[in-house]
Amino acid sequence: MMALVIHGGAWDIPEEETDSLLVGLRQALTAGWDYLAGAGTAIDAVTAAIQVMEDDEAFNAGRGAVINAAGMVELDASIMNGTTLGAGAVAGVRVIKNPILLARLIMDENEHVLLMGEGALRFAHEHKAPICPPSYFITSRELERQRKTQGGQRFTAGAASQKKRLPADTVGAVALDSFGTIAAGTSTGGIPNKYPGRVGDAPLIGCGTYALSTVGGVSTTGMGEAMIKVVMAKTVVDLIKQYNGNAMKAVREGMEILVRQTRGYGGVIALSRQGEIGIAYNTSRMARGYMTTAHQIPFVAL
Ligand code: ASP
Repeated sequence: MMALVIHGGAWDIPEEETDSLLVGLRQALTAGWDYLAGAGTAIDAVTAAIQVMEDDEAFNAGRGAVINAAGMVELDASIMNGTTLGAGAVAGVRVIKNPILLARLIMDENEHVLLMGEGALRFAHEHKAPICPPSYFITSRELERQRKTQGGQRFTAGAASQKKRLPADTVGAVALDSFGTIAAGTSTGGIPNKYPGRVGDAPLIGCGTYALSTVGGVSTTGMGEAMIKVVMAKTVVDLIKQYNGNAMKAVREGMEILVRQTRGYGGVIALSRQGEIGIAYNTSRMARGYMTTAHQIPFVAL
């Protein structure tokens, strides 16, 4: 059994953005599935799917990411191999073209898990990860969004319902390969108008991303501060175990915990080791899709 499930963020996605998100989801699924179908690894499938979405300005990751309160794009990403527990992550990077690739390089090097700021840049130079000027990431859509929200409220935990409307096309993927390895990854520009230096759940192993091949894998999206507080990704993996691989039950229970304990919002995707898919969200929409051995045509929905 092989499976790939992806997300492109959970929020109140406006009608005019739906087409480009659906196209991007399909391309990401196809890129990831090509690896799985060719006896490639779950890690390669997750990396490929996320890279496609980072390069696609429809998503809040890589090019097209949201702009912070200082007018900058700061990107977070993480990736994890559920068999070796190898993990890599970057936080607050400003000129790395594909943060997921840098996270992957950190994982492969197997010395550290999370690099940020200057050190991440140095590591990128040493490993020849593609670099872009800050202007590459800033799109007219995000400049317009920032202009409209200038002087508006920044994120606060208390304004949860209002923030459900904030753009959050963070991306993530979870894959199960033919060798039984589960991998998960997440990449984001964070939340719009965020305080400079703010780091969300996406680069934190256990919060935005977690994988354990004997149980399952998870990627999250939504209000990062809330996800961190309930260690969302690891919590859902634990629930998959508790519910004997019932990934759907696990993600639903995970969202209930999130709401009960933090009044947070967002969404979560999961895979069990049996290839069962779980998707849950409490926003009005979530960009999502999957392919499995039994369903080899991309399924995408908003
Ligand atoms: N979870 C991300 C963060 O808080 C944002 C999102 O998923 O939309 O940085």
